[in-house]
Amino acid sequence: MTVETVQLEMNSPITDAEELKLVSSRYPVRITKYYKGLIKEKNDAIWKQSMPSIKELEDSGITDPLGEEHDSPVKCIVHRYPDRALFYSTSECAMFCRFCTRKRKVGKTDTVSKEDWNEGFEYIKKHTEIRDVVVSGGDPLTLSDENLGFILSNLRKIKHVQIIRIGTRMPVVNPNRITDKLCSILKQHHPLYINTHFNHPDEITDESTEACNKLANVGIPLGNQSVLLKGVNDDIATMKLLMQKLLEIRVKPYYIYMMDLILGASHFRTSLQTGLDIIEGLRGHTSGMAVPQLVIDAPNGGGKIPIMPETIISKEYGEVILRNYENKYFSYPLE
Ligand SMILES: *Cc1c(COP(=O)(O)O)cnc(C)c1O
Ligand code: SF4
Repeated sequence: MTVETVQLEMNSPITDAEELKLVSSRYPVRITKYYKGLIKEKNDAIWKQSMPSIKELEDSGITDPLGEEHDSPVKCIVHRYPDRALFYSTSECAMFCRFCTRKRKVGKTDTVSKEDWNEGFEYIKKHTEIRDVVVSGGDPLTLSDENLGFILSNLRKIKHVQIIRIGTRMPVVNPNRITDKLCSILKQHHPLYINTHFNHPDEITDESTEACNKLANVGIPLGNQSVLLKGVNDDIATMKLLMQKLLEIRVKPYYIYMMDLILGASHFRTSLQTGLDIIEGLRGHTSGMAVPQLVIDAPNGGGKIPIMPETIISKEYGEVILRNYENKYFSYPLE
């Protein structure tokens, strides 16, 4: 792995030694040198996403909030939706985000082997209904170029796989990983999409901009999936700036997730109303391109469910009464 990470010292000036010791005995702690460099002060948005907190241990939540184990026919596949599957390529990440949904898995000793991948390819081969494969993890870009190329070319050999997507936080936490060599491998596997994971405008730097540029320049459409995190991005101004800045670096906002009910991360949860207010603060007020879909990934394997502020006020007497972004009402015939 080409990632340069910093091991936090027990006497690290930037986090409490006792806190670090307690938390890291339960959940792995890792931060890249680059991402740590973005911290301006204790408890800022970058800090909160990357530094362990004692709150992770005082917590009620569930270890597998999305019921993924239930929808997992073989070790590296989650097959929940009719025509697409998630390929769990690795448990490694460049950094362990404190709010991670797969907190139960990432950085643990239960690694994914080549045999597991092969089993995954076989499963997808047999299931001709799968036309879209999301290569996920962990972070797939922690794999070597060779291993990543191996996965992509094996998926590409399967005729019914129309599109491949990669989910990665690497442009955000370790933008140096986006090398020319990596891009030359990725571009051999089109149509290939990448969804990345920016949560805060301070993550958009010269380095992450350059990483996204390189990917976009080899024809990869880029999307972004953010998580709504208390104290990080749970206000309209921050989210609006983030979405606008993403479009500037050619990344299309795709989803904002309400927090999953993850054990060890409930201090990041916000109210549903906070999410609705953010969408309300974006829609109509800025480019439609900048407005992602707010979703709740429903507990126990319900999948992603879209959440929208109410725009239909009533459906009566043959007309629908609609509310616009300025809170003005308009009617439109029902049929
Ligand atoms: C999110 C997810 C997908 C992809 O969902 P889209 O809404 O198509 O982006 C596929 N499989 C699983 C298990 C997922 O969690
Ligand atoms: S990079 Fe993604 S999978 Fe890895 S810890 Fe962060 S959120 Fe979780």
